[in-house]
Amino acid sequence: MGSRELEERVINLKGIGEKTAKLFEKCGVYTCGDLIRYYPRTYDIYGNIVNACDMKPGEVNACKLTIIGSIVKRRVRNLSIIAFEAADQTARVKMTYFNAPYLASVLKPGTSHVFRGTVQKKGNFLAMDQPKMYKLDEYMSLVGQMQPRYPLVKGLTNNIVIKAMHEAFKSTGKFEEYLPEDIIKSHNLISYSEATVGIHFPSNEKALEKARRRLAYDEFLLFVLKLRLLKKSQEIIKNVYPMIDVADTKRLLEKLPYKLTNAQMSAWEDIKSDLSGETVMNRLIQGDVGSGKTIISLLALLTAAANGYQGALMAPTEVLAAQHYESFMDIINKYGLKALKPVLLTGALSAKEKKEAQRKISEGEVNCIIGTNALIQEKVNYKNLALVVTDEQHRFGVRQRESLAGKGDKVHVLLMSATPIPRTLAIILYGDLHISIVNEMPGGRKPIKNCVVGTDYRPTAYKFIKSQVEAGHQAYVICPMIEEGELDNVENVTDYTEKLRAALPSGIRVDMLHGKMKPLEKDKIMDAFARKDIDVLVSTTVIEVGINVPNATVMMIENAERFGLSQLHQLRGRVGRGDAQSYCIFLNTSDSKEARERLDIMNKSNDGFKIAEEDLRQRGPGDLFGVRQSGDLNFRVGDIYHDSDLVKESAMDADRILAKDPDLEMTQHSVLKELLRTKSANSVDFATL
Ligand code: ADP
Ligand code: MG
Repeated sequence: MGSRELEERVINLKGIGEKTAKLFEKCGVYTCGDLIRYYPRTYDIYGNIVNACDMKPGEVNACKLTIIGSIVKRRVRNLSIIAFEAADQTARVKMTYFNAPYLASVLKPGTSHVFRGTVQKKGNFLAMDQPKMYKLDEYMSLVGQMQPRYPLVKGLTNNIVIKAMHEAFKSTGKFEEYLPEDIIKSHNLISYSEATVGIHFPSNEKALEKARRRLAYDEFLLFVLKLRLLKKSQEIIKNVYPMIDVADTKRLLEKLPYKLTNAQMSAWEDIKSDLSGETVMNRLIQGDVGSGKTIISLLALLTAAANGYQGALMAPTEVLAAQHYESFMDIINKYGLKALKPVLLTGALSAKEKKEAQRKISEGEVNCIIGTNALIQEKVNYKNLALVVTDEQHRFGVRQRESLAGKGDKVHVLLMSATPIPRTLAIILYGDLHISIVNEMPGGRKPIKNCVVGTDYRPTAYKFIKSQVEAGHQAYVICPMIEEGELDNVENVTDYTEKLRAALPSGIRVDMLHGKMKPLEKDKIMDAFARKDIDVLVSTTVIEVGINVPNATVMMIENAERFGLSQLHQLRGRVGRGDAQSYCIFLNTSDSKEARERLDIMNKSNDGFKIAEEDLRQRGPGDLFGVRQSGDLNFRVGDIYHDSDLVKESAMDADRILAKDPDLEMTQHSVLKELLRTKSANSVDFATL
């Protein structure tokens, strides 16, 4: 494969100037390789012509219609409007064009055209705004073709991306095949080269599915191989830090104001038996948001401390790390846990504070180190690290986990995640990793009250948010996009924040949070929200990670139909964490029946595992692109639910390959090996695994 060409910057492609290159950078596209992996959000399919009465509101339809009645031209301020009606034998459709005076000569009563556009229902009428017009034979020649539609930012048009993509393929040429031939044959896969082009420019839906399958297979295979190679050494590792059950944990459990749920208890029993067992612990705790995983990690860390070892708790963000530290300190002070001596170690500390923390760690003055990546990236020498816990484990790269484990000598590893991956899939993905499932919610919680509403409910929702804020609570509003993009009627955080500031009384403090902000900036905002210096936080889905602000009681999700159900569930999990009644408002902006049915599941159930199952059952292949994402374990192309057969096959293949060639030394595996070593050379986004 032309790896040098892939590293070429997009600005060197024909037709791309500095301005366009900057726009691409906004989308995270710097090199040709980035561009080729910038997959379409969806595809425009030129569908068959339908009868007007069969057109579906909310969807794009093509219809052959005859213009009836007269053509009305109006001006509203500086907008010129052309309106008329068109019909076939089955129904009439109201058409509106804006600022298109050139159409006046084409649009003649009695003439027929194919109109293609998004269908709306306005009162009792079907309507189309700005539909594209075609001659019948012109349209017929397009039927079945697919046009990629890319995620865009303001200024970057779909056509620019398409042109750039063609140029990129011209400069990179054909890609070399790296999968062994028997694998390609046995799963009936298409070549890597064909798939790479096919995902952008499929000739039809079948071809697209073939391209998608091939790329999904590659992602899974590389992922499983990577995991297997990482863990290979661990399987045989003896427990060199055996621990005994200590009195401190029993005492704490007696003093806590609540009893552990049965599920928490059994996870805790699993951990105890791992820590005292023959081999090193390698366990995943999977429990829905709010199921109480933090206390389990505290018990494990307390056990390590009381046995004379150090333990570390790693969180994906500064805010989450600080939150854990504070809740640990709270419990320590309240229940007199002298054995546990925590220290907070994050990038936000001053150089002096960091040095002091590092001294305490290396001299063994502290035995519970809570922090972010800083924990592994900076020069920390542990005195006797024996246990590493990662919270929200899916947020960490495989590599980060590996290097933290490498800090200690064969340490026990406990991973915690809220991702409800079906057990069978989890075992395939993680191999012999042991799993404890916490599938029970602590009692006494008030279930979140849900509602699914349309856009006309917005004023009511704002009033409700206002009243909750006035009662001393806080609210989240989620939008799918960061800034204005190519999609109509999709809310973005930047504009929405302004809109909400204008709609709410000036005393209510509205601020925003999104993934393009610098990490420290993000943490500052989250911190301000946790300290109640912000009342309403407008955010993208970055808010998903286990943040715990029990004072927040409202979660409002704009364009809720654009999110996966599991993701909606994670978002909703940000409220309902305190004593007060909490609410979740799903704002549905789509007319489609399917969207309504999907959101109804959220309305009826607060159970993450059930929702994940339903999500899987309902999602069709068409939903696999776009603002989909099941929330976690996001592969670029593959979907662990939809492609569960591929996950299984790739896992078996990975095991077969490694059985024959444990270190991938054979020549036919050399490219695979290289791909596993370099992150950028393949389409696996390890950062999210
Ligand atoms: P998550 O699993 O999402 O990390 P947390 O550990 O943050 O959940 O727990 C959420 C809240 O539930 C915390 O305030 C915690 O103190 C409380 N909690 C945990 N276990 C129980 C229990 N068995 N009974 C009642 N409350 C509990
Ligand atoms: Mg948590």
